[in-house]
Amino acid sequence: MYTESLVKLGKVRSEIREIFEYGNKRKAEIGAENVFDFSIGNPSVPAPKSVNDAIIDLVNNFDSVALHGYTSAQGDAKVRTTIANYINNRFNTEIAPDNIYMTCGAASSLTIVFNAIMQKDDECIVFTPYFSEYGVFLERTGAKLVAVKSEDKTFQVDMKGFEAAINEKTKAVVINSPNNPSGVVYSVETIEKMCDLLRKKEKEYGHPIFLVTDEPYRELVYDDIEVPYLINYYDDTFVCYSYSKALSLPGERIGYIVVSPKMKDAGDAYAAVCGAGRALGYVCASSMYQRVIEKCIDDTADISIYKVNRDLLYNNLTEMGYECVYPDGAFYLFVKAMGDDAHEFCEKAKEHELLLVPADSFGTPGYVRISYCVQTKQIEDALPAFKKLAESYQK
Ligand code: PLP
Repeated sequence: MYTESLVKLGKVRSEIREIFEYGNKRKAEIGAENVFDFSIGNPSVPAPKSVNDAIIDLVNNFDSVALHGYTSAQGDAKVRTTIANYINNRFNTEIAPDNIYMTCGAASSLTIVFNAIMQKDDECIVFTPYFSEYGVFLERTGAKLVAVKSEDKTFQVDMKGFEAAINEKTKAVVINSPNNPSGVVYSVETIEKMCDLLRKKEKEYGHPIFLVTDEPYRELVYDDIEVPYLINYYDDTFVCYSYSKALSLPGERIGYIVVSPKMKDAGDAYAAVCGAGRALGYVCASSMYQRVIEKCIDDTADISIYKVNRDLLYNNLTEMGYECVYPDGAFYLFVKAMGDDAHEFCEKAKEHELLLVPADSFGTPGYVRISYCVQTKQIEDALPAFKKLAESYQK
């Protein structure tokens, strides 16, 4: 009677949510300060003051009917012009407002792009570890997710494995850099190699292979790390951007898609994005938050706290004997499970009130994800528990 695959999807509980719920229960039992919940990727720093100021200004001074009314489906023209100008100044591109489509965050950006380009039996390549929702976002297209194993330990792209996975059915390749859950950022060199290979394969198969770049963590990089802007490296690129983490606005649902102006038949590609947004019932992205973005285009949440957390956690855990991937960006530490079974390791961690996420659902069994978008004090307080956990494996 109901769509079977969706009933199934609706019934599967997210493991991360389950751990989070367990954490809430445990906090009620023994006190919040005694539970070290590293499960969820919800920004822990507030949105910048400029966001609140923009909201107040809009409510007080912007025409109320327009503020809360529909915008055009692809987003308000002035907002898209501001975003296009900002991107062009920052990345030296030539994006026009009509290459931009406003969305309800990266999840909808990805779902819209997948629906615009993927058909039944097409293949979409992702690299391990990958955000497990990609499979869900692809679900209604009938396309197949193909996971390519990344290099051991570094989690950079294994070019040989990548090349072997591409075939005539390959229609898209998803890049998520900085990565959830590894924190890895792909270098310019890696991106260039990937793009050279894709151009060669496009020629060989005689059809485009699209790069879909999932960028909710673009602004979350520490030290002087460059995150290459893919439109400058590869013509057939869709950028899926979001303000969820950049401005700490995950609940407000705002982001955008850029359709590269250099893409083959870019006008049709943009029309397909608009059509997919329409077919999926998105209507338009939040009118008020589109205007907030216009006013806060230059701002980012204060990510210095994440850097402090990254350094504290990485330095201490590696000293304790944990094998960790050095995260250049995002707010996750990716750690090899001691004893190799991530579920068993996470159960043991619970005995020390540490809530970690097994990374099996990211396509990397044997690893766990630690979200460090928490108060720094939580990390300081949790260090003895991490030490005891490590010692329990060293006996
Ligand atoms: N892609 C990745 C890799 C993510 O980690 C997330 C959210 O955590 C999303 C997409 C979805 O983000 P949004 O809140 O912008 O929909």
